[in-house]
Amino acid sequence: MNLAHFPRRRYTDGFTPLEPLPRLSAALGGPDIWIKRDDLLGLAGGGNKTRKLEFLVAEALHQGADTLITVGAPQSNHCRLTLAAAAKEGLKTRLIIEERVPGSYAADALGNNLLFDLMGVAAIRAVPLGTDLAAEMARDADIVTAAGGRPYSIVGGGSNPLGALGYAACAAEIMAQSFDQAVAFDHIIVASGSAGTHAGLLAGLVALNAGIPVTGINVRRPQAEQEGNVHRLAVATAELLGTPAPARGDVVALADWVGPGYSLPTSEMVAAVRLLARQEGVLLDPVYSGKAMAGLIGLVQRGTFKPGERILFLHTGGSPSLHAYAGNLRNPAYNPA
Ligand SMILES: *Cc1c(COP(=O)(O)O)cnc(C)c1O
Repeated sequence: MNLAHFPRRRYTDGFTPLEPLPRLSAALGGPDIWIKRDDLLGLAGGGNKTRKLEFLVAEALHQGADTLITVGAPQSNHCRLTLAAAAKEGLKTRLIIEERVPGSYAADALGNNLLFDLMGVAAIRAVPLGTDLAAEMARDADIVTAAGGRPYSIVGGGSNPLGALGYAACAAEIMAQSFDQAVAFDHIIVASGSAGTHAGLLAGLVALNAGIPVTGINVRRPQAEQEGNVHRLAVATAELLGTPAPARGDVVALADWVGPGYSLPTSEMVAAVRLLARQEGVLLDPVYSGKAMAGLIGLVQRGTFKPGERILFLHTGGSPSLHAYAGNLRNPAYNPA
């Protein structure tokens, strides 16, 4: 795997920290839990989309684009980071917001929504769940072209093979840090949504022959559907890299912590967000990393891991949306201690 062949912008200075979580590990009384702090990636507020955008925006600039177009949910971290990258590069951004929960988009909402406005979104409109998002982006691209501009469209979550390279790069970063810090991981846990993070990480680990199993924790889809999505994208990413394809059996994406649906709070998520904040001073988010951590905690409680095993939790970011969910997060009925 040689990622240096691909044009890339750099939005983070060096590696993100790889750290132990001794207080969480002690509180759970299970394996030795570590964290990869991709919540500390560059661009406004950090998070996993920054790694994907390094490759996607490099291609947009190479093509001479002046406007980025993308899609996301009302509290989309991907939309926030696309805007941040665009601002830094002097590009405009147009957003299409998919209302996955009917009525959930409010122009004056807090969290990421406020940041869309602050970072100068050029156009934003909400469409209902089930809308053909590719067709909507094509409509916006036509508007830009008709006005003499040059559009570049980015799929939801930046999850195509080019974007997923960001997480193949993260796999290499984790292996370098693992060697440098003399810590060998037995397992990696990651949130699995539009699948680019999970797929890219898997493609990178397989390319490096790392031998570390990955468990994805779904935030939206049933297990088999999500595993199919992750596998297809991991194979396409490996093809782009010219490396061996991950096997279908390498893909695990558990759906036990989705709860009632995408972005809808669960008591396990609230407990996980509060526990990490109190035990480690680490801020998770309600939609992705909070549910992924609820999954990790649940797996520990089920006895999935042996004592002494080292488990790496990939923190994909998202804390800028916390304030939009204050009512759910501070409800004392959910207070674990
Ligand atoms: C988008 C996102 C994810 C999921 O990553 P995918 O590549 O879409 O699967 C996880 N965590 C956060 C905070 C995100 O914004």
